Parts: sequence; C-alpha cells; structure tokens
Amino acid sequence: MLYESYFKKPKDIAGVIAKVRDLAKMTGPVRLMEICGTHTMAISRSGIRGLFLPEIQLISGPGCPVCVTPSGVMDEIFKLSDHKNIVITSYGDLLRVPGSRRGDSLLRRKALGAHVVDVYSPMDALALARKNPGKEVVFLGVGFETTAPGTASCLLEAVRQGVENFSILCLLKPTEPALRTLVESPDFNVSGFLCPGHVAAVTGSDAFAFLPEDYGLPAVVSGFEGADLLCSILLLMEMLADKTPGLVNEYVRLVRPKGNPAAQEMIRRVFEPVTCEWRGLGMVPGGGFKIKDEFSDFDAARRFHLTWHEGKEPAGCRCAQVIRGSLAPGQCPLFKTVCTPQDPVGPCMVSSEGSCAAAFRYEL
Ligand code: SF4
Repeated sequence: MLYESYFKKPKDIAGVIAKVRDLAKMTGPVRLMEICGTHTMAISRSGIRGLFLPEIQLISGPGCPVCVTPSGVMDEIFKLSDHKNIVITSYGDLLRVPGSRRGDSLLRRKALGAHVVDVYSPMDALALARKNPGKEVVFLGVGFETTAPGTASCLLEAVRQGVENFSILCLLKPTEPALRTLVESPDFNVSGFLCPGHVAAVTGSDAFAFLPEDYGLPAVVSGFEGADLLCSILLLMEMLADKTPGLVNEYVRLVRPKGNPAAQEMIRRVFEPVTCEWRGLGMVPGGGFKIKDEFSDFDAARRFHLTWHEGKEPAGCRCAQVIRGSLAPGQCPLFKTVCTPQDPVGPCMVSSEGSCAAAFRYEL
C-alpha cells in the first residue's frame, strides 16, 4: 500500500507533500479536522499545520478529553474537594482545568489545603484508597474509549477487593455521538476527518465508517508520526479529489477493523451510554458513559449526590468555538495576551493536548 511504503522510506515524504499540493489544486480550499489531542500536538509540533496553507487548513476538533469536560462539572468537583475527608485523584491535566470562575482549579484548591492527588492511573487511586481506609478516595475518570477500559477494569478490581472507600466520578465519553452532533451542527464546515488512532485501537477503524456512509465525509484513521499524518492527509486529499468519500485505516500496524473485543467488552460490562454535556457541543445524546446501576456503590456521583447544571465559560473565553473548530486559537482575543499556559483562562490552554496550548507552544 502507498502509505506503508512511504512510511518505510521517510526520504520519500517529499513526494507525499508534492502530491498533496497537486491534489489541492484540483480540490480547491479544504478544511481537514483532527479529533484527537495527540494528533493536535503532533501536527503542531511537526510544523505540518502550516505546510499546506492556505489551500489546506488543518483544524482541531473536540479531541481533548480534558477540554470537553464542562465548567459546571468542574465547579461541582471543586465543591466536593471542600470535604476534609475526601481525597480527589485524577490525571494531572484535569487538576489545572478552571470551572466557571477564572483562576479556580483543583490545583489551587490543593494549595489552599484540599486533598488532591495527581495519579498516573486509576489503579494508583485504588491503591491510595487501600492505604487510607479512613478517607474517601474519588478518582475522576476522564477520557474517551482509550481510557474507558482501564477505568472499568479498576472499578471491577475495587469490587473484587471490596474497597468500600473508593469511588469513580465517571466523566468518560464515547466519540461517535459527539462527532454526529458536531457534523449536524449549523456551523459545521469540514471536508474530511483525521480519526484518532488510539480510540480506533479499542473501537476498531470500522467505528468511523458512519462518517462517509451517513455524511459523505472521507475519514482516515491515522497514526501519530509525521509520516503517518502526511500520508493520512494524502489519503484524504485523494478521496476528496476523486469525490469518493470512504474510510481508510492508515494505522494498520496497530488498528484492526473490529478493534479490541476484550476492551470493548470491559466498557460494556461496566458502563452504559447516557446523554451528557460536552464543552463546546452542549448536551450530546449518548455522549457520556455512566456507571451501571449494579456498580452504583462505586459511583461517586451517587455516593456524594453530585449534580451539575450546564456550565458557563469564564468571561471572554472562546474555548467552545475552538473545540468545535469554528475559531482558531489565534482568533480568540485573549490568546497570548490574557490567556497563557502560565495563567490559562480556558481548558484549551491548560491541557497538554489542547489546541490553544499547541498553538502557543509551536505555531504563533
Ligand atoms: Fe480559551 Fe484561552 Fe484558548 Fe481563548 S486562548 S479559547 S480563553 S484557552
């Protein structure tokens, strides 16, 4: 296959770039969206985002799980962290995400005395709970299908070990419902998708077939090296030039058409779909994973009676539009002036996978 041969001979990448430029003369201006935070960073870091401008715009969509966590949820978590007996644990990025009030975050709460611990995996949080039986340890489970199996596995382990002071606040989200909401939104303006290789490793590449089948949009499941991304862009451009939208799996060295059945079964065993708010997209039918009733003893939302309303963005923050791909980071009036990685206003600047953080670090 074309992309495999180019990947094995990096010096031939110049040929890929030339082909993409030739195809852009046939297609006219196009907008290609990546929907994975790791792609966002890789495209920015490698300089690929600026390589084909102005004919090909590479824009970032709702691919950063921390960024799409709504501010109302963060506000509720901040309140939970006020309880002296509760230890909040999560991945580092989420600890810096603001709620609806600028400057508030779990890290700030920690500085003020809250029990907040940065962990590398949910199993670390479970171990913390075992070591501290007098404390309630809550793990904030955030991510897409990539992290959902590990979180599910941890919950089953907590059940098996009977760790009663451990619970999970499930903020996990499946990707397909959000993509459907995005594509069906009035301001949607994208010609094709670079689909997330990590998610597809779990779901299978076939899980993205709805993009060409239901919406006539070409889609390529891509790996993360510069050569992967360039070859994926070429594959998208070929489909756009031929007007034959389809699904191609460029990341064949990892992704299978049907994905990882054991991981999918783990998700099905523990979670069920629920309507859920995504920052930038609003309420998405089926856009969240909920812990099934049979595991409700380990569901932090039920244990601590957590509820949240649709969140407000911090004043001036344009993250919702950035997440939808309708605004580039540099078009936000706060970008680099008021909002910086040292003093972020919105989550897109906080997260190591956020579009604004990528643009700040590598582009503008
Ligand atoms: Fe949000 Fe800051 Fe990005 Fe503006 S620059 S969209 S405030 S993260």
